[in-house]
Amino acid sequence: MLVAGMEFVPTTCPYCGTGCSFYLVVRDNRVLGIEPWHTPPINEGKLCQKGRYAHEFIHSKDRLTKPLIKENGVFVKSTWDEAYRLIVKKFKSYRPEELACLASAKASNEENYLMQKFARTVLKTNNIDHCARLCHSPTVSALSEVFGSGAMTNSILDLQESKCIFVIGSNTFEQHPLIGRRLILAKKRGAKIICADPRYTPTAKQADLYLSMYSGTDVALLNGLMHHILENGWEDRGFIGSRTKGFAAMKNTVMKESYDLKHVSKLVGIPESDLATAAEWIAKSKPSALIYSMGITQHTVGVDNVKSVANLMMLTGNIGKPGSGVNPLRGQNNVQGACDMGCLPDVYSGYQKVTDQESRSKMMRIWGVDEIANSSAGYTVTETMNLLVDEPGKIKCLYLMGENPMLSDPDLDHVRAALESVEFMVSQDIFLSETAEFADVILPAACYAEKNGTHTNTERRVQRWRKAIDPPGEAKPDWLIISEIAGLMGYDKQFSYKKESEIFDEITEVTPSYAGMNYERLEHPYALQWPCPDISHPGTQILHTEKFATKDGLGLFTAVEWQPPAEVTDSEYPLILTTGRSIWHWHTGTMTRRSKTLDAEVKTGWVEIHAKDAEKLGIDDGEMVRVSSRRGNIEIQAKVTKDIKEGEVFIPFHFKECPANILTNNALDSIAKIPEYKACASKVEKIKR
Ligand code: SF4
Repeated sequence: MLVAGMEFVPTTCPYCGTGCSFYLVVRDNRVLGIEPWHTPPINEGKLCQKGRYAHEFIHSKDRLTKPLIKENGVFVKSTWDEAYRLIVKKFKSYRPEELACLASAKASNEENYLMQKFARTVLKTNNIDHCARLCHSPTVSALSEVFGSGAMTNSILDLQESKCIFVIGSNTFEQHPLIGRRLILAKKRGAKIICADPRYTPTAKQADLYLSMYSGTDVALLNGLMHHILENGWEDRGFIGSRTKGFAAMKNTVMKESYDLKHVSKLVGIPESDLATAAEWIAKSKPSALIYSMGITQHTVGVDNVKSVANLMMLTGNIGKPGSGVNPLRGQNNVQGACDMGCLPDVYSGYQKVTDQESRSKMMRIWGVDEIANSSAGYTVTETMNLLVDEPGKIKCLYLMGENPMLSDPDLDHVRAALESVEFMVSQDIFLSETAEFADVILPAACYAEKNGTHTNTERRVQRWRKAIDPPGEAKPDWLIISEIAGLMGYDKQFSYKKESEIFDEITEVTPSYAGMNYERLEHPYALQWPCPDISHPGTQILHTEKFATKDGLGLFTAVEWQPPAEVTDSEYPLILTTGRSIWHWHTGTMTRRSKTLDAEVKTGWVEIHAKDAEKLGIDDGEMVRVSSRRGNIEIQAKVTKDIKEGEVFIPFHFKECPANILTNNALDSIAKIPEYKACASKVEKIKR
């Protein structure tokens, strides 16, 4: 659309998994601003702070514009030819098991698809992962097992049909603000909102019932609710009998005395009467929906937590119906897509197992190669970081696209040791991130406004990015960089794409759930939600309406026992630390801290501490304090408040000058390998100068 010399290019927000759309306002190859696009249904022209200013980092003076090669510890500008020559020589010198790739939940589906194809066909390794490992890997593991599909069962708009929305482990109003708006619209239509969180967040403040729980007690809370529902006969027996299996074992577990409301109340720190009210509302409101996010998943029992959430919603018959469902809110704009595209060590795109010979043969045929990575799952990013430290020399080379583990991963001293032990590392990014500092070669990439592509939001909706301007300097889109390296390594035929739509067409050929999509169909402002198995299929708003996606079509109840976090408090570290985000910033701050408006609002981090805990420690609001865990300490400003549970402290993880992840624990969930960001033992002290 062209108005008075300005072009309005429709595209999608690069920040959270809500997937709001807007117009980029462009003149003379510069993005001047953002204007509402009212037609797409998710946000109807409305945006949160981050989306409103999503253009401000694009022309930052810090953008990478030329390849850089490290020489004697200093980055020196190079040509693309020089950088590629070095990369190809090094990549060719390693065995498949010595290489690992990290894809990016910020990049497009096309780029993520190519990254895993590159890992598997060119490098012949399944060591490919991305930051979903750190946010929703338990969702993928647990929901794939119990429902047959590891994604949000319902849709954002559909939340308005709900009569009761149970939000647990999600600060929806700050992290997914335009989904928060749907909660308000549901409330206006009479829905009751329940929020369980250790912090009295903006989401909790909108709730009709706030459950102030201790971090790390989710399974106890959920089992307690189910105990009370069963005790009162409020379960949906018809749904349980016809649609599920495993009910008896699950019931035996939750009906133990340890899960009656009296015991649970003490453990989770919530009055018995509030637990009883929550159980009654969830069971009796028809339909009820459940929303969760990283408060559920970022635990050593993340998979158990998700299975428990699924148990509750199957018990009350709240799956497969409008206004119901298990609704994990995915963090980054394309974390759903990066998983769908197979940027995980055990699956190709569409969650087709690398261990399945039929899938392997299909991939080799469509990719036109005689050999790909073997049929064993590769290492996760968390396992890779541990191996780099514990068994130096086992993994020697890292290829990173847009990832920043040096701020996002737990126990940053451990991450530093891991990155220092890498023999050769390539980082492809739009800025020189904290992680890129460790690279041997840095390749300048294009941002969302400078390329075409698709990405998949939290409700499985595949939407378009449209190129508005050229990348700065010599920067190139990630898909082109990967294709050029593959070509130089002898795979020019397999990576001979001229434009992004050709990659998408290949994605639809290999990925059954995307089979009915193409760029033309995605031009519609409603785009398409997967599964979309054929070209006439309208896409799927609600999963599991008739049967689950499991082999036998039944949903699986699981008996889950509560287990404490890996690290509990003691006299030396008496406070539970939990981490999260601010509404003004995004992840490691590489983009939002380079946005003038967002940076001006919140310039640095803080530690939230309850007023009573602060009083005991003699700490005043605004005072600089030292926060320590068994892994390290940081100095940070105290925010004394009553909006957090006594005994808990909270730090946002965006800020490199006071990085919360120096403190967090890299103990992992045994199945999903996600670290326990949401509960570790810590202490807060006055700084004596
Ligand atoms: Fe962007 Fe998420 Fe805000 Fe929407 S809610 S504008 S997708 S950050």
